[in-house]
Amino acid sequence: MSKNVLIMAGDGIGPEIMAQAEAVLRFVNEDEGLGLEFEHALVGGASIDAAGVPLTEDALALAKSADAILFGAIGGPKWESLEIAIRPEKGLLRLRSELELFGNLRPAMLYPQLASASSLKPELVSGLDILIVRELTGGIYFGQPRGIRTLENGERQGYNTYVYSESEIIRIGRMAFEAAMKRGKKLCSVDKANVLEVTELWREIMTDLSKEYPEVELSHMYVDNAAMQLIRAPKQFDVMVTGNMFGDILSDAAAMLTGSIGMLPSASLDKDNKGMYEPCHGSAPDIAGKGLANPLATILSAAMMLRYSLGYGATADRLEAAVSKVLDLGYRTADICTDGSQKVSTAQMGEAVLNTVKSSS
Ligand code: NAD
Repeated sequence: MSKNVLIMAGDGIGPEIMAQAEAVLRFVNEDEGLGLEFEHALVGGASIDAAGVPLTEDALALAKSADAILFGAIGGPKWESLEIAIRPEKGLLRLRSELELFGNLRPAMLYPQLASASSLKPELVSGLDILIVRELTGGIYFGQPRGIRTLENGERQGYNTYVYSESEIIRIGRMAFEAAMKRGKKLCSVDKANVLEVTELWREIMTDLSKEYPEVELSHMYVDNAAMQLIRAPKQFDVMVTGNMFGDILSDAAAMLTGSIGMLPSASLDKDNKGMYEPCHGSAPDIAGKGLANPLATILSAAMMLRYSLGYGATADRLEAAVSKVLDLGYRTADICTDGSQKVSTAQMGEAVLNTVKSSS
């Protein structure tokens, strides 16, 4: 039976990196007879330019009916002066919330070939393998009420609401405990329970859940300490679970430990493992159109999609092995090139992966 993959390239470097990932996906689809059907839809600034909104109802319907979505990146200076309600980011947030993609898995792995590209000393990061599980559809990014109001004294005041219900905490907690069971059985829950009541509840629920997973060693850490520990001794972590905003920030910090945000894939899953897959980085307007973007995070996101939502784990392994091989061969886009190794463009890196996948037929 065929499976539908919706490709949403987005803005900035999105179309450049997606072209490379799509070429690799199309090749393995043919080569292994996977039966994938590809559709495309605009999102973000590209959709605003074409249709006036960051996500059309048609695009949302395609996303809902797809078996999986491969997403590039959205946003850029061109759309920053628009009203917040119709900015590119709203397209992505709406997709995440309408599809109930509440669980964001962000692996931060250091490829040994890139130890010198990390901003930390090689001995601190070599062998690093962390999974950050971030809650994605709740917390302060979605909480109501929100806005900018004018007070009686005429001063303007911005406000947002940080809110999590028990059921939201339980479902992300379970996803994290299950992930820990498949890995090193260590889970660190990150909160700010000394200041924020919402995370006091978070901590209480994580502690309760841990009784169902006696094999998993649960620890709790305040977010400020977690940020410090990630930089001081990142290998102490196996799986980390946290809310939307803390996860957003910590996962970008973890990204830098691995050398470049251009290496990091992510999966956003619903309760049935249907998902949207995207690189952790944004649309990088500073390098868009210059052939400088690293396409590997998007190719690795395609691999995660094959594994988690489409059931093709062996094909995912094949793509990941090809990425490792091209790094062995010395291919480096500018962001991971610190030691004078071969510097290649976005398209050349994509071709190198494609050729390596082809030679592994
Ligand atoms: P960014 O991730 O786009 O860029 C941060 C830095 O990393 C830049 O120097 C950029 O050149 C570099 N970088 C990012 N991806 C790279 C890649 N694949 N290869 C090489 N270098 C790469 O973050 P930003 O600059 O804060 O945001 C730029 C735009 O992206 C904004 O409009 C923001 O709203 C949007 N954004 C979108 C997403 C998303 O689509 N999920 C995520 C974050 C930011």
